[in-house]
Amino acid sequence: MADRYAVIGHPVAHSKSPWIHAEFARQTRQDLDYGRIEAPLDGFARTLAEFRAAGGRGANITLPFKDQAFAYCDGAVTERALAVGVVNTLVFDGGKVQGDNTDGVGLLRDITVNLGRAIAGKRVLLMGAGGAAQGVLAPLLAAHPGRLMVANRTAEKARVLAQRYGASAGGGYDALRGEQFDLLINATSAGLDDAAPPLPAGVFAPGALGYDMDYGRDTPFLALARAAGAAAHDGSGMLVEQAAESFQLWRGLRPDTAPVLAALRRR
Ligand code: NDP
Repeated sequence: MADRYAVIGHPVAHSKSPWIHAEFARQTRQDLDYGRIEAPLDGFARTLAEFRAAGGRGANITLPFKDQAFAYCDGAVTERALAVGVVNTLVFDGGKVQGDNTDGVGLLRDITVNLGRAIAGKRVLLMGAGGAAQGVLAPLLAAHPGRLMVANRTAEKARVLAQRYGASAGGGYDALRGEQFDLLINATSAGLDDAAPPLPAGVFAPGALGYDMDYGRDTPFLALARAAGAAAHDGSGMLVEQAAESFQLWRGLRPDTAPVLAALRRR
């Protein structure tokens, strides 16, 4: 029987992870079965226990269970997952559950390798202070930006996040007046409301990149970036890169992400 993996979340019907991992498995000739499991909001641990009992070898964890997944680990947790306090990848190894977080490295690889953009020395703006922003802030800081500001609709959350991880500053969008950035990363879910974060005019530096972690559709933030003359990219590359990192953890093989990303964009 093929080894079993799954993405577990709520909701999870929209997840592209099963398709991505099926492509990786085909490319690397791995015999595995990757499904999607919607866990009840009050039943994450129960769902995981059932999946493990049914032979599950590993799982990707998505909204809203990433912090519960962190608490669920009783085996080794990688340093990068410890740094962010949330887990998106579980490995079931014998009786133990190991945890990792591949979102940060996925974002960094997409920006620096796929899009060929440097982070070191650059002025970076991270929008949002939810799980996604929390997961990528420490890895972004480790890439040595010249300056990194966090902005959020609820300003206090950005202040707390910036202080906890040692970012340059954190606050509301008003505080960005007069600032300019080379890399602007939207880690909010504003796109779901068909809105963009309320950025003041002039924040896109010449040659800037506007990056939306949202994926698979054009968002008001991407339109804003283009209107300001910046390059605009969605989070499809991050999604594929974080998946490749999970795949490597489970199977010991790194798939080639470029053809899978190209095929995902054509879908
Ligand atoms: P959360 O619900 O944890 O956080 C949502 C954030 O968005 C909060 O900071 C919230 O601000 C802000 N926000 C919501 N609506 C608006 C609005 N209308 N205007 C301004 N700010 C708003 O979500 P996550 O952090 O988990 O996810 C955020 C996004 O990142 C999602 O779109 C998700 O799909 C994407 N993502 C993509 C990944 C990828 O691989 N490409 C991986 C992980 C996430 P406030 O605090 O004021 O409520």
